[in-house]
Amino acid sequence: MSFFKRLKDKLTGNPTEEKVEQIGEEQSSELQLEDSAEPALLETTNVEVEEKIEETTVIDDSDDSIISDNSQELVEQEQQQEVQEIAVVEESVKEKKPSAWSITQKFKAGLEKTRNSFTSKVNDLVARYRKVDEDFFEELEDLLLQADVGFETVMELMDKLRFEVQRKNIKDTNGIQTIISEKLVEIYEQGEEDLIDLNMQPNGELTVILFVGVNGVGKTTTIGKLAHRLKSEGKTVVLAAGDTFRAGAIDQLQVWGDRVGCEVIKQSEGSDPAAVMYDAIRAAKNRKADVLICDTAGRLQNKVNLMNELEKVHRVISREIPNAPHEVLLALDATTGQNALVQAQTFKEVTNVTGIVLTKLDGTAKGGIVLAIRNKLHIPVKFVGLGEKMDDLQPFDAERYVYGLFAEGLDKEMQNNEE
Ligand code: GDP
Ligand code: MG
Repeated sequence: MSFFKRLKDKLTGNPTEEKVEQIGEEQSSELQLEDSAEPALLETTNVEVEEKIEETTVIDDSDDSIISDNSQELVEQEQQQEVQEIAVVEESVKEKKPSAWSITQKFKAGLEKTRNSFTSKVNDLVARYRKVDEDFFEELEDLLLQADVGFETVMELMDKLRFEVQRKNIKDTNGIQTIISEKLVEIYEQGEEDLIDLNMQPNGELTVILFVGVNGVGKTTTIGKLAHRLKSEGKTVVLAAGDTFRAGAIDQLQVWGDRVGCEVIKQSEGSDPAAVMYDAIRAAKNRKADVLICDTAGRLQNKVNLMNELEKVHRVISREIPNAPHEVLLALDATTGQNALVQAQTFKEVTNVTGIVLTKLDGTAKGGIVLAIRNKLHIPVKFVGLGEKMDDLQPFDAERYVYGLFAEGLDKEMQNNEE
């Protein structure tokens, strides 16, 4: 399958999937729900639906004798239809999934800064050179390095580009963005089979997700967004306020808990985070919750302290649930560039990081850091933060990411390819 075909399918969702999604969308748009609908809104809608059901029950209770046989049948039919319609609407509200295209648009919006800086420079380069030659390659190499793509990845990409240009006998710089896109996806996806999905336990068992990372990278915010995401999948989520160190950290998590609609297990500021975890696991088990997400403090003033604290938290969790935590997600702030790689190295040494959440990708013009992380750390980037809204946390996706980098150019090429 050609790169374009694959890209297009991915960005828009495959035709059948998209159709189902569209139907779902139409139904929910009747309810005036938006993609970013917050739980409160969902709840009102549910209430409305319930009220509707009640109404139908009221009709059911009405005096039969005054209705003739025929009209009664009609009423029954109508009732049945209405109940069915309500069921369909309820279903679509419950299963409301954003369409593939709307997710693609989130990547596009989240990568705007990078696109405006990196991609516009590439466009400039293409316009200036017209012909692909060594000087062109060298300047392109510089641009990629400036976008934080990372040295090894840039070298690998340049090799691939040179090879492809030679193989296809490409002289013109026009369309080079497509080849760069294709090769970037190839580099990202090669080798390691990425387990980007969260390691969720089977139904009825508690999944424990531990968040680690230095102060300010976006742990608490990401926990809120992830809780929202899991809740919209129908899961019961409990949060553990394990950052007992930073003033206001507990309240901040509570605010998210209220917003998303999930319970927050907490103790007072300064208490032992391991004790909070112990309480939280007990509570989550009692409530038969599906997922427990644990916040932690991000002190990095010295590695030994950090190690001790995380080890203790880990020990308490795995004493209560043998294989837990099932995920240890390291939050890294994309705006800190290469510094994020240094942090990752430290955390990798003190705890078994199973995945990375790269936050604030929307806040940097150097979105190439995703590729550097991939190449240097060999830990999958499971989610990216594309903004501050609740649904701005998205599973990382190489095609959508590349589209976010080169949207305009790729749109044009995809169109030309169709004609
Ligand atoms: P923590 O100290 O690691 O828990 O970090 P916080 O969750 O308190 O986040 C620090 C700041 O980063 C807050 O102002 C968040 O709103 C912001 N933030 C987190 N994730 C994102 C993101 O993906 N995009 C943007 N633009 N801001 C974010
Ligand atoms: Mg925090």
